[in-house]
Amino acid sequence: MKTFCGRANPTTGSMEWLEEGEDYDYHQEIARSRYADMLHDKDRNVKYYQGIRAAVSRVKERGEKAIVLDIGTGTGLLSMMAASAGADFCYAIEVFKPMANAAVKIVEKNGFSDKIKVINKHSTEVTVGPDGDMQCRANILVTELFDTELIGEGALPTYEHAHKYLVQEGCEAVPHRATVYVQLVESRRMWSWKKLFPVHVEAEDGEKILVPPSEMENCPGLPSVCDIQLNQMPSSDFSTLSDVVKMFSVDFSKPVQSASTCYRVQLEPVKSGKAQIVLSWWDIDMDPSGMINCSMAPYWVKPTSALQWRDHWMQCVYFLPREEPVLQGEKLSLTACRDEYSVWYNLQKARADEEEQKADVCVGSPVCRCRAHLLWNRPRFGELNDQSRTRQYIKSLRKVLKTDSICLCISDGSLLPVLAHYLGAKQVQCMQPSRIDLYHPHKLMAGTNNLEDKIKIIEARPELLKPSHLEDKKISVLVGEPFFTTSLLPWHNLYFWYARTAVSSHLASNVTVLPQSASLHMMIVEFQDLWRIRSPCGICEGFDVRTMDDMIKDSLNFRESKEAEPHPLWEYPCKSLSEPQEVLTFDFTKTVPEHCLSTEGSVKLLRKGKSHGAVLWMEYHLTADISVSTGLMQLSNEKGNCEWNPHCKQGVYFFSSVIESEILSDPTAVEYAMNFDTKTGEIAMDFKL
Ligand code: SAH
Ligand code: ZN
Repeated sequence: MKTFCGRANPTTGSMEWLEEGEDYDYHQEIARSRYADMLHDKDRNVKYYQGIRAAVSRVKERGEKAIVLDIGTGTGLLSMMAASAGADFCYAIEVFKPMANAAVKIVEKNGFSDKIKVINKHSTEVTVGPDGDMQCRANILVTELFDTELIGEGALPTYEHAHKYLVQEGCEAVPHRATVYVQLVESRRMWSWKKLFPVHVEAEDGEKILVPPSEMENCPGLPSVCDIQLNQMPSSDFSTLSDVVKMFSVDFSKPVQSASTCYRVQLEPVKSGKAQIVLSWWDIDMDPSGMINCSMAPYWVKPTSALQWRDHWMQCVYFLPREEPVLQGEKLSLTACRDEYSVWYNLQKARADEEEQKADVCVGSPVCRCRAHLLWNRPRFGELNDQSRTRQYIKSLRKVLKTDSICLCISDGSLLPVLAHYLGAKQVQCMQPSRIDLYHPHKLMAGTNNLEDKIKIIEARPELLKPSHLEDKKISVLVGEPFFTTSLLPWHNLYFWYARTAVSSHLASNVTVLPQSASLHMMIVEFQDLWRIRSPCGICEGFDVRTMDDMIKDSLNFRESKEAEPHPLWEYPCKSLSEPQEVLTFDFTKTVPEHCLSTEGSVKLLRKGKSHGAVLWMEYHLTADISVSTGLMQLSNEKGNCEWNPHCKQGVYFFSSVIESEILSDPTAVEYAMNFDTKTGEIAMDFKL
């Protein structure tokens, strides 16, 4: 069997379908999975174990046999916990074949083969009866089917089905219940992920302001969840307008309904402000008493308790359809609506007529009407709203543009064409090569800003550009951010260089290219926590899960050369162990060379710490003296704390073994080799520790 995998080609900016062997998909799935992170989640594991022991004891006390149904067994961990706690038999259901196979091996290795039956099925396909998968219905239901939004992985329909067909009435459930919490906040930073703020442009002939149209202002945006490591959001970046409120609970020991519904709570703001965002997280009580509680609450909720770091469960940011000014003490009601898989929120000023209100609070899930939310994702909104970044672009555009400039912009969803127009370029054209079907920002903003017909859209790919597209003129200024929606890793935006190469014959002899060059930077770091996602677990709560570790390792090594992976490092603190180093440069004033660009060198470890990996990012040199970084923004030198660009993902290359540097007098060096293959646009790298 062959599978086809879609991947953007960074030399053409477009999607290509590559034929891959049958193993490819599952290796990707395993290598990038959250299994390692879950096995490292000590708090979760300990509490599941406590809850399972308590449930088994309760059933035994009633004089019944303990028959466990573990839906989504993964490594088999929760079933092994149940068997150790004295369960008579466990049915361990796992839909993902490679995992079910691994579970069989792990169960066997730990000596539980006679107590645990692994069934490679989706739970809704499982049969009960003398000839069925299960001999009889279970009286203990154990699952871990939750995502950051709680229900996004289909926990509700799975529970609904299990209660109807697979477990006894009055069964015990671990977890017993889940509760979703919310807090109303005002946050310019988070609001900037949903809304475009007016853009101020200081031009020769006075200040011009680009104002988003009202459809954009009032658009509810997209239904997809925004999950982040809220613990990395400094308290100065938001202001809490309400206490933490329980929004809704689900009791997993009773029949569960997955059909769409709404929940409503009354709120009184503790402070006046602009209600924009609902922050949300959940906790699970492993037993009915609520004594064994596993919580995703962020740092400010219970400042005294130790936080467990985890990446498989984070916190959610929900954007209210509209910003709502609220007064301290005012009566508000907050509605959570959900379907089977997702949740969204609405805020209303409380009114006398409760019933009437009830009728109009259950609104459908958000649908973008303004199209901007289809054009820009949340980090991209944040980037476009970053005023200091915009200022760098304006400053450099002002340096290179002249009134008779013929300007072509190549970037996806960029505001540069509008800026160039405001700054007086005579003729501005734009191209969105990697997604020709995308809307153009100036079109979305045309009405309010009088932009209709000011900027010409070229609906061709760079290699198909013809003199007629440019009215037979030569381009005097070629600009790009560069940003392309198909880029996964930082250097994929070098597609700008390929596009520049493709349009070479249309460039004036004295053309200015902005950015004039780019550079790849690298630094060795010690992660505070992110290392866990790629680190073997060994023994988990007394169970040997090394089979899983080996499986992940095999999948990571499936391709001979390991790859860097994208991570937004503002969410994953790390400490620099070396100086940042420029490793490769790319000259946009010239065309992409035929040969590869390679470099080798060594970097000294200057600080005590564990070298978990290298971080890589791009910097763009807009003009000789103006640069923007998509990676490191600041480095505090005593401790090595890093501040990362909050809108971009950086490349992370995890070392296969970790070295600990101790001494500063004789610093250890890490040797590296990088190769930018101009044929593929990919960077291969190798490190020797
Ligand atoms: N129970 C393990 C793994 C949890 S991850 C642990 O706690 O460590 C959840 C697993 O459930 C995944 O492997 C996924 O493939 C599986 N899964 C999700 N829904 C399922 C369903 N309805 N039936 C069977 N497996 C399911
Ligand atoms: Zn929209």
